[in-house]
Amino acid sequence: MLHNRKNTRIIKIDNVQIGGQNDVVIQSMTNTKTANIEATLFQIEQLKKAGCQIVRIAVFDEEDAKALQTIVKNSVLPVIADIHFNFEFAIKAIESGIKKIRLNPGNLEDPVKLEKICTLANQHNVAIRVGVNSGSIPKWALDKYGYSSKSMIQTLKHYIKLLNKYKFHNIVISLKANDPIMMMEAYELAAKKFKYPLHLGVTEAGVLLDGTIKSTIGLTPLLLKGIGDTIRISLTDDPVKEIEVARKILNALKIRNDLVDIISCPTCGRLNFNIMPLVEKVQEYTKDMFFPLKISILGCFVNGIGEGKEADIGVAGSIQKAVIFKHGKILKTVSENQVFDELKILIDEEYNKYKSTKQNNN
Ligand code: SF4
Repeated sequence: MLHNRKNTRIIKIDNVQIGGQNDVVIQSMTNTKTANIEATLFQIEQLKKAGCQIVRIAVFDEEDAKALQTIVKNSVLPVIADIHFNFEFAIKAIESGIKKIRLNPGNLEDPVKLEKICTLANQHNVAIRVGVNSGSIPKWALDKYGYSSKSMIQTLKHYIKLLNKYKFHNIVISLKANDPIMMMEAYELAAKKFKYPLHLGVTEAGVLLDGTIKSTIGLTPLLLKGIGDTIRISLTDDPVKEIEVARKILNALKIRNDLVDIISCPTCGRLNFNIMPLVEKVQEYTKDMFFPLKISILGCFVNGIGEGKEADIGVAGSIQKAVIFKHGKILKTVSENQVFDELKILIDEEYNKYKSTKQNNN
């Protein structure tokens, strides 16, 4: 059944809850040098503005570890510290007020160190993301199961056992692969075996176009089955783009309904109207308006009338002019150079209506 959320354990990262029946949480990772506190905090603000809910930062060296306390104190989003396998950084992160760390227990099999991290994390109510990436499957698993989703799951089972041994259960699981099919199979297996919330992502997915395609392929079948509690779209790009893509995927899957949806035609020989710049302008104008609105912009009357009637606001182009619809009714016909200004007025009206309804409901 679509969107029938799996009942995973709930993990709290400050005021954000992951798992259970909570909404799928969108996250990203800063690409600034963490020790550059000003740049990192600025990027976190940009990410929040785009719709990010939790943010991960890399702790690569001593300088980064020292910056954690100030970043946690001033960040507008809950912060996850990616310490990978450094014991000292894990301790420092927890003591700095970090509420979730990403760590690979496979590289921390010294039981004394692992026990200390688990005890401290339990005391401070800190969650741990346990990740197995397709690129970091240990040799024992590769020898036994080959390069496969089964290998990833067996490794994960081993890591979770290590943490459970020290009474640690505040766990979020990730099983990323750069192959979306392998990643998808691994998460399906994990959803059957574990109650811990799942962090979904196709790792090293590539640049904007490739990364969006691979991430959508990997995430969609899982999300439609209710598998996945938090997502990250990994892109070789500005992390703000990761949030934009994540939101668009969740909205297209109807898991969320908080974006302006622009329906526009691919154009063809029937086009008598320059719609590309219009669509770009409307996209730019609405990109920071997070509310449900369907705008249809079609190049001619062939499909434009039907789509225009279905949308909240519609445009059907003609020869140097366009018909404008509002909630299914024809409003007026305007010249091509007036269309954007007319649309702006209608969009603003809908946005103001949405904001005042929201205010009254609060
Ligand atoms: Fe062509 Fe009209 Fe369809 Fe656009 S809406 S693709 S112009 S037929």
